[in-house]
Amino acid sequence: MNGIPRMTARRALPPAGSTPMSAKPIFVVHEHHASRRHFDLRLEIAGVLKSWAVPKGPSLNPADKRLAVLVDDHLMEYAKYEGIIPAGGYGAGPVVIWDEGWIEWPEGSGGEAQWDAGSLKFVLHGTRLRGAFALVKMKGPKTTGKEWLLMKKRDEAADDRFSLESALTPDRKASLKERVPPCEAS
Ligand code: MN
Repeated sequence: MNGIPRMTARRALPPAGSTPMSAKPIFVVHEHHASRRHFDLRLEIAGVLKSWAVPKGPSLNPADKRLAVLVDDHLMEYAKYEGIIPAGGYGAGPVVIWDEGWIEWPEGSGGEAQWDAGSLKFVLHGTRLRGAFALVKMKGPKTTGKEWLLMKKRDEAADDRFSLESALTPDRKASLKERVPPCEAS
């Protein structure tokens, strides 16, 4: 394998049955009806899905500033998860993919340095979410370090009349099966 030590090569490969590593970093937004409905924004950074729970969901309206609460990293294979997290497990309830696509980071960046700085700027290429966004860690004495703000930048994809539509239609809900997620789901 091009002289890469076996263990390193193995660790770099995605686990069996998961989605192959994409050339472009991906994002996914899960609509998750746990004890409270929320939307989980997940961005591929440094080989994991950095994840935020967004209670009100993302918006294309630049006037909206959405609280995004940082949760644990999720495995890359969680990006394709849909199903009903079994009762008794953390986050029990239906999960559907609300949107997915790829992330365009500023040139020469994979998001790692921005992550370290607590200030992410990126362009999303999804179906519902498109254009430039900022995701910024809140500072101040009343913050716990987990509160971030998700904001749409003003560009051609901005929509001042944006209203969030649920992806969990009754038909979709009826088609979901109970399925244990690939990692603890938050
Ligand atoms: Mn969740």
